[in-house]
Order: sequence, then C-alpha cells, then structure tokens
Amino acid sequence: LEVIRAVEPRVADAIGQEVADQREMLKLIASENYASPATLLAMGNWFSDKYAEGTVGRRFYAGCRNVDTVEALAAEHARELFGAEHAYAQPHSGIDANLVAFWAVLADRVEAPALVKAGVRNVNDLSEADWAELRQAFGNQRMLGMSLDAGGHLTHGFRPNISGKMFDQRSYGTDPATGLIDYEALRTSAREFKPLIIVAGYSAYPRLVNFRIMREIADEVGATLMVDMAHFAGLVAGKVLTGDFDPVPHAQIVTTTTHKSLRGPRGGMVLCDDSLKDQVDRGCPMVLGGPLPHVMAAKAVALAEARRPEFRDYAQAVVDNSRALAEGLMRRGATLVTGGSDNHINLIDVATSYGLTGRQAESALLDSGIVTNRNSIPADPNGAWYTSGIRIGTPALTTRGLGTAEMDEVAGLIDRVLTTTEPGTTAKGAPSKAQHVLDPKVADEISRRATDL
Ligand code: PLP
Repeated sequence: LEVIRAVEPRVADAIGQEVADQREMLKLIASENYASPATLLAMGNWFSDKYAEGTVGRRFYAGCRNVDTVEALAAEHARELFGAEHAYAQPHSGIDANLVAFWAVLADRVEAPALVKAGVRNVNDLSEADWAELRQAFGNQRMLGMSLDAGGHLTHGFRPNISGKMFDQRSYGTDPATGLIDYEALRTSAREFKPLIIVAGYSAYPRLVNFRIMREIADEVGATLMVDMAHFAGLVAGKVLTGDFDPVPHAQIVTTTTHKSLRGPRGGMVLCDDSLKDQVDRGCPMVLGGPLPHVMAAKAVALAEARRPEFRDYAQAVVDNSRALAEGLMRRGATLVTGGSDNHINLIDVATSYGLTGRQAESALLDSGIVTNRNSIPADPNGAWYTSGIRIGTPALTTRGLGTAEMDEVAGLIDRVLTTTEPGTTAKGAPSKAQHVLDPKVADEISRRATDL
C-alpha cells in the first residue's frame, strides 16, 4: 500500500478501507467471495502489461509463450475439474462469456450471420426498428430464458442487455404456488415458441435446476441448451451438484463467472462440446478485446485450488450453511421464496415477513454491518427498484470459516434488525419505499457482533 500511497494516497486509503469493511462486516452478497492470497497475487503482476490476442499457440503478437502457459493451464484445469471437452478462459466477465456463447451458437446454427449494419454505425444509435432488422439478418432467432423476477439474469434476454436486442425473447417463470421452476409449463412454452437457444441458470433462485429435463426439452424443440452456471459453478466444481444437477454433461454450452462460488478472480469462462470449440475460440476478436493474462493466471491458480479435496468440503459447507440460515430464518417467522434453500442462496420476502421494501431492509442491514442486496421476488409488488426481497448467500462467510451454528446466530441478527426496522416517511410526510427507521443502538449492537463473528 505504501507504493500506491506514494502516487495516489486516496486510492491507498480506499483499498485499506475496503479491506477493513470486508473484515468487519458480514458479507452475505450471494455473488461475492474472498479469493485466496495465491489467486490475488497471480492477478496483480506484470502479466497485466502483455498483449496476446489470439489463442494458445496462435497469437497475433510475439512474445506470448508465458501467456500461452497460463491460458493453457487455466483451460486444462477447467476441463479436468468440470469434465468438459473444451474450455475457453479468455472472457473478461460473465456477461462477456455469455456474449461469446450467444455468438458461437448463432454462428454455428444460423446461415450467413452478419452484423454488417452494426459495423458501419454506432450500435448505441440503433433504433428498435434497426434492431428488428438486425434480428431479421439472423433469421429472427429466439431465446427462452428464466424471467428476471423468477431469478434469471439480465443477460438471458432482457431489454437493457444486448441479449434482449439480439434475440426475440420469451421467458419462463416459476409456479406461483411453490416458487419452483414449472418444467411442464416450460416445455409447452418451448414447443410454441421454438427458440434457437434455451438458457438455464440464475442469479436469485434458491433451489436446484434439473438440467437433464432442460436438455430433453431443448432436444424436443431443436434448441441448443446453454447453461449459465455463474452463481453455482463452485458447487459443481465441489461435486455437490452432480447427476441431473450438473450442467456440463447435459448442456452443449456452459458459461460461468470465476469469482462467485468458484472463489477465483473476477472473470468469465466458456465450456463446450468440441463441436462448438472453433466458434467459441473466436470470442476474441468477435466480442472480446485482448485477453487479460494476469486474470487468466489467477483463474489457473483458483481452478487448481478448486481441484483439491478441501474444495469439496468447502462447497458442501456452503450448502449446509445456506440450509442452516434458511432454517434459522424460518424458525424466527421469516417467509422465504420457495420455503428454503438447496444451494447457496436464500431469498427473504421482507414485504410479507417484516412489512419492508427490499431497499429499506438492505439499508437497515447495512447500518448494522450486514451486507446484502435487495432483489425482486416473483410477481414483485414493489417493482425492480425497491423490490420486496433480500438475497443472501453463504459462499463468502463459509470461506471465512463460519459453520452452521454461526449461521443460526446470523439468522437471529438479520431477524432482529428487520423486526426492529420501521418503514420511514418522505420529507413531505408521505409513506416512503426508500426510507427506514432503525434505532442506532440496535444497529451499533448488531454491528459489533457482526465484527466479532
Ligand atoms: N450470469 C449470471 C447468472 C450472473 O449472476 C451474473 C452476475 O451477477 C453474470 C452472468 C454477469 O457476470 P459479470 O458481472 O462478471 O459480467
């Protein structure tokens, strides 16, 4: 830090404060974790200075032998760990990995794909009509993905993301009675809609997905099954999700981030059958810039860690902790979407349980040293900004060594904060969806306990 402080002290201070925050608060954001020192060090070094467009052994720059070593290692570890035919370690993030996958499937399945129009104009200027024309060029291809409020991700075909512009999108949701994916409704929708791609995977679904059934549906309608396992890759790596719940044997193409439950550096990855290998390897320059060799080095280190037996214990503990958290919350009267958790995620319906919006609950918990994020719940009455849910995940606290007994205590802390929080009012005295009122003494007491844990 002293080296950084000599150049820009405010950055050094921000880094120091971030370390302190991450140590002192309970990190329950389901997509976050703590990477190991080996992973962090592999990322912060001179590899960052190297350009290496191309693929291993076929670069557009000279002097790439060391980059070849780390990229090949990252891909080898990924193939071995997940049992995949091919792995592409270059995507800079989960969104990039999904873009690479979409283009690979389009290029593989659609005659003469052309982004000619986008090439000659600024894509940000394209109107809805232009996008419709572009889609026409791709034969009006269709994507069926999980709806955002059921727990799907923005990149699975939603308007604010390019996937919603590239594809004519339809979504599948969950059964309103159980909160679980309704596979028969999905099958009916797929038969009617005939998508090119069915996307499975989620950001906020607390249960398991049966990828065998998803593939069966995809095969029936001639779709390619793509699974975005960004959230649960660590549970697949740790062999907690096997058989029907392991996406790799079932999907033709699987994307992931490397920084969530997998506990690696920030980044993405694509796994696929050999049949899609050539298209996937064109990710750079099709949709990616030059690879990040320092991040690929860190991916190789993190994947090597995930191949160790201890990682299986970790993955199992993540799920055990999530179940313990669910039980602790429900025993104290909280309503959980789907009534529990089978993975690393819990979704608390804070509107039903505590009469709060997600925004109010998120702020009250943050005041108390508990970091979470608000999240939509199915058919959310408070909309996507204020929401009615709080998403909590166990990967980070499990890395810090907390077990099921501590999870029960964490459930108690969350419940105590939310039962003592009242919805606030606006400056004009009207009821507010944003403001909350929490006794600072309670916030202080819970924060101290959060730091001790
Ligand atoms: N896919 C899923 C399912 C995600 O949950 C996320 C991130 O939250 C992403 C993709 C995007 O990952 P990134 O933020 O690395 O682009």
